[in-house]
Amino acid sequence: KDKGKNSICFYTSDINDRLLHYQRITALLRSAVASGSLQLHFQPQIDLNDGEMRSCEALLRCFDENSQAVPPDVFIPVAEKSGLINRIGDWVIEAACKQLVAWKGTALEGVRVDINLSGKQLTNQHLADQILQTLHNHDLPPSQFGVELTENEVIGGDEEQIGQLERLKNAGVHISIDDFGTGYSSLVYLRKLPVCSLKIDRSFLHHAMENDSDMAIMQAIITVGHSLGLSVVVEGVETTEQDKLVKMLGCDLAQGFLYARPMPADLMPSYLTDMVRITKP
Ligand code: C2E
Ligand code: MG
Ligand code: MG
Ligand code: MG
Repeated sequence: KDKGKNSICFYTSDINDRLLHYQRITALLRSAVASGSLQLHFQPQIDLNDGEMRSCEALLRCFDENSQAVPPDVFIPVAEKSGLINRIGDWVIEAACKQLVAWKGTALEGVRVDINLSGKQLTNQHLADQILQTLHNHDLPPSQFGVELTENEVIGGDEEQIGQLERLKNAGVHISIDDFGTGYSSLVYLRKLPVCSLKIDRSFLHHAMENDSDMAIMQAIITVGHSLGLSVVVEGVETTEQDKLVKMLGCDLAQGFLYARPMPADLMPSYLTDMVRITKP
């Protein structure tokens, strides 16, 4: 309120303000879904063995009435709470497929797009069918599509929900556990889950430069991941020192501002032609 009528304050403890915030973001999301003003940005994932990009992550962007980006960490929780996440999630699936089709005939043909799924979406029993049907409608192979879920969302899931992930994986969809290491899972659990990749949460890398125990945790995740036949992706690589470290530790893929920030789809082709060379091992 101190900032004037039209400013937003995302972090407030006041219940009234929280309610206003919730109502405001809900209204914003409703109109964004209705008017089609949501956007996907894409962030390359780099194969550390050859510096190539074969997959990217789709990250949702929502803009307020002043065209200011509202961060997903702010609007996704509101979308989940209000139930709008299902409609928004459907939009993301459709938009990712449309983008893959639009990239046909460009340097990005054949790339895989990984979307983020909210645990709430998995409670929709038709989610797996819906994803496979959408891919089919766009004439896309499931191998060009991936989903990321956090470990708590996967482990908190019941058999029906795990079954859906299994169906997706069996059809060829790539399944990643996002922000790995920050949840409560035991590594043994991984054996039973339909998973292809682990994405190590960026907090480990950021501390690993100074902190031996974070480095040890990263090494352990990589070792266990590999011994279970999973590929290991590291998030949040920002510096060349971190790039060196993750290569030394044996990570398979990396994602981070050092290689590329999330960008609108139309910038991806020039990224591919201009930037990949910088990251060759
Ligand atoms: P996430 O899935 O873990 O995505 C990675 C986040 O890290 C992204 O933030 C990305 O911009 C950021 N990032 C990438 N490289 C770096 C780096 O080098 N340094 C730092 N500091 N950050 C980096 P973003 O786009 O703000 O998304 C935040 C979270 O919102 C995502 O975390 C994901 O959990 C959620 N999210 C985004 N899009 C969707 C969506 O379509 N559906 C759902 N359910 N969640 C989404
Ligand atoms: Mg993610
Ligand atoms: Mg993550
Ligand atoms: Mg996250």
